[in-house]
Amino acid sequence: MYNRFQEHLQKELQDIKEAGLFKNERVITTPQTAEIAVSTGENVLNFCMNNYLGLSNDQRLIDAAKDALDNRGYGMSSVRFICGTQDLHKELEAKVSEFFGTEDTILYAACFDANGGVFEPLLDQQDAIISDSLNHASIIDGVRLCKAQRYRYKNADMADLEDQLKLAQAQRFRLIVTDGVFSMDGNVAPMDKIMELAEKYDAMVMVDESHSAGVVGKTGRGVTEQYNIKGKVDIITGTLGKAFGGAVGGFTTGRKEIIDMLRQRSRPYLFSNSIPPLVAKAGTRMFEVISESNELQDRLHENTAFFVEQMKAAGFDIKPTQSAICAVMLYDAKLSQDFAAALLKEGIYVIGFFFPVVPKGEARIRVQLSAAHTRAHLEKAVAAFTKVGKELNVIK
Ligand SMILES: *Cc1c(COP(=O)(O)O)cnc(C)c1O
Repeated sequence: MYNRFQEHLQKELQDIKEAGLFKNERVITTPQTAEIAVSTGENVLNFCMNNYLGLSNDQRLIDAAKDALDNRGYGMSSVRFICGTQDLHKELEAKVSEFFGTEDTILYAACFDANGGVFEPLLDQQDAIISDSLNHASIIDGVRLCKAQRYRYKNADMADLEDQLKLAQAQRFRLIVTDGVFSMDGNVAPMDKIMELAEKYDAMVMVDESHSAGVVGKTGRGVTEQYNIKGKVDIITGTLGKAFGGAVGGFTTGRKEIIDMLRQRSRPYLFSNSIPPLVAKAGTRMFEVISESNELQDRLHENTAFFVEQMKAAGFDIKPTQSAICAVMLYDAKLSQDFAAALLKEGIYVIGFFFPVVPKGEARIRVQLSAAHTRAHLEKAVAAFTKVGKELNVIK
């Protein structure tokens, strides 16, 4: 059998390559931070990591993880409800709730699992999920696993959301679900309007804070801070794999009964291993670090503002952003790839995105800012963008 299947796979892989969509992985040989080395020998400045607060290689988190390794061992060898819960896991759950101002929290191995396991236990065919068209793949998959009626509205389009809510009035319960920050544009979901519509059409609200937690809002508490709606969003999901230290892990936080039900019925929680003690301990330390001082959040906000302003002054077309994601619009797919390759030669590591990751004719380079970047890093990046931009006739 395998021979025939092998041919089939080889052909499909070839098609992916011919379409220019084959993903090659660059191999990093240093810790994840602003200045990295790759296996081909180059030292580059990293502008494509989700390490928004620069905590992925923070000594305080490393020390906390080492302490847990020494005192609580390496792995749990169990799901949470059998023998996979240490005090460290409960402490981290309490920290997440405290940070977001929510009633309770449940941990998962990843936010992909949090989103995969949130809908099916809560809603059934009598109910409705109204989802933003640009929501993350894990939300889309989670919705597919649930029997609720599905409605989709155009990205951040409140007139369309209202239309969909009207259509969904026949259902028993309604849940609006949105990413907090959309990862390709960097725009923030219009939570003030979403909350108004939820009130008007009797719906609950869920936000995935993966790209907004640690980033959006003065203290990085996400869209509920930005829009002053703390405690009003029914369900928040998020990851420990981006701003929050970047290791692994996800969570759902929100209303008590919702979290209680997820602990009873959420399949990725019930049937998948507990996160390791070192991740739980370092995660707790991470929340202490970013709650004691606002230094990292402030630096991230300053860095983002500086970079966007400098890039605009250089003549680049930048998508309006309210996050640490800066989309440098190039429109042409090949240009986006050539531009990223030329930047790598200048020591700047970024990725060019084109269809189908972004709409046709909207190719771009996505720059992700971090508190780990120094002013000199940012200046070097702007200078490299300017040089390449002139060479490739993107700017004058
Ligand atoms: C990154 C991301 C996830 C997945 O998080 P993991 O913890 O890496 O699984 C989920 N949702 C959104 C919006 C994300 O950006």
